[in-house]
Amino acid sequence: MAARIASLRERVAAADVAYHRDDAPVMSDADYDALKRELAALEAAHPDLAAADSPTQTVGAAPSERFAKVRHAQRMMSLENAFTPEAVADFITRMRSFLGLAPDAPLAMTAEPKIDGLSLSLRYEQGRLVQAATRGDGTTGENVTANARTIADIPAVIPDAPDVLEVRGEVYMTHEDFAALNDSGADRVFANPRNAAAGSLRQLDPGITARRPLRFFAYGWGQISAPLADTQSGAIARLAAMGFATTSPRLCSSLADLLAVWADLEQRRATLGFDIDGVVYKVDDLSLQDRLGFRSTTPRWALAHKFPAEIAWTRLERIEIQVGRTGALSPVARLAPVTVGGVVVQNATLHNEDYIAGHDSRGQPIRDGRDIREGDWVQVYRAGDVIPKVADVDLSRRTNPDHYEFPTTCPECGSEAIREPGDSVRRCSGGLGCPAQAIERLRHFVSRAAFDIEGLGAKQVEAFYADPVLPIREPAEIFTLAARDAAGLARLKNRDGWGERSAENLFRSIEERRSIPLARLIFALGI
Ligand SMILES: [Zn+2]
Repeated sequence: MAARIASLRERVAAADVAYHRDDAPVMSDADYDALKRELAALEAAHPDLAAADSPTQTVGAAPSERFAKVRHAQRMMSLENAFTPEAVADFITRMRSFLGLAPDAPLAMTAEPKIDGLSLSLRYEQGRLVQAATRGDGTTGENVTANARTIADIPAVIPDAPDVLEVRGEVYMTHEDFAALNDSGADRVFANPRNAAAGSLRQLDPGITARRPLRFFAYGWGQISAPLADTQSGAIARLAAMGFATTSPRLCSSLADLLAVWADLEQRRATLGFDIDGVVYKVDDLSLQDRLGFRSTTPRWALAHKFPAEIAWTRLERIEIQVGRTGALSPVARLAPVTVGGVVVQNATLHNEDYIAGHDSRGQPIRDGRDIREGDWVQVYRAGDVIPKVADVDLSRRTNPDHYEFPTTCPECGSEAIREPGDSVRRCSGGLGCPAQAIERLRHFVSRAAFDIEGLGAKQVEAFYADPVLPIREPAEIFTLAARDAAGLARLKNRDGWGERSAENLFRSIEERRSIPLARLIFALGI
């Protein structure tokens, strides 16, 4: 048992250093949480084997040697995690019993999104920003003052602040800014917005940080010379009035309220524009927070109710090539099914052949130059976007000796697939002779935003394309369909899946679309 505990401690500690100090996670959040929970359970069951330096008793990782150290005036705590509604209910019961409250006595709480970024503590003296420090191990962080001064969301001066005010919050990057940064040919391509935010803030050259689109949300405070308010929600409103963006905590009066906020944010998670990994619940009354106090690394008055992990590792079974409307050959990863962010994922985009090879179109390395091969263990990332991406690869589990060979002919029609200089995409040269391109073009032509023909969806387009009697091979043939049907012997209405009414309806909706606005026509033709 002692050996198992020692091994778990070692793995969790190594993951802490990789995540917090090097901004390069070595395992998924879900795997990390599972290891840490197992370790905590074993330590609880074997108190004789407990140790003060166990990763369950510490926060984050020691600061990097590259930065000057800052000792926090007040420790930066971590949060207790919960993964189920039962654990949230348990948390509330424990607090009630600690405070001696009756089960039906009111207990106001706040609920706010948990931003997936990098914690930062800002110290203001006489209303001026004098120091910014990362969390580090909670006691000692890294001095990143010059870098923090370049972030527009962080006020340099606050006119009506208490003499000493430490504001705590999260530095993060929006999905839009993250995508633009990775596309801009920055010296490094990041796996996700959190790594990009952390890597951008922890730069030795503040000039680089200044060019990175970092943002800041305030969610709390450290040392203060005068209270901001007598409630959590009041204090955050005060920070908002001082000019900080806040996570806009919502006031809740019951477990059901808290869980409703969680469910709402979980559902809207993909459209918020930035990554969140859960919801944080806090007791609203600050005098109750004081009475509840702290454990070794976490407050008793707050809880992080996490979402299912958005990163997972799985096996890349094979790489398939899809041919689009313009002939672009797009590589798609077929994966061993894995749950990412609560959704089962089996396909993910691999962008283009350069991305698979491990560099961008300018030859700059992606994933430090690691290529992706069939059979590899890959990290799948899904957040914000609906389309999951393959972000990274585990070289230690690689068995395939061969690089992936991107095809130079179209897998659909066999025509040569050509890559023009300066283009990151390889395209089939078969034009409309390529069935994949012809079908995609027809599908686009009849889509909602273009001709929008009722009864002629993607499935029907594919069937008519292959139909030997009544084919639609190009858009103009849609408008001759009724006449050709009337002239033929094998009428559409007599076919399987069709009847008098459905055939009539189709011909009528085509007829109605004979003249459409020019804008739609241009869109439909893809010009
Ligand atoms: Zn083709």
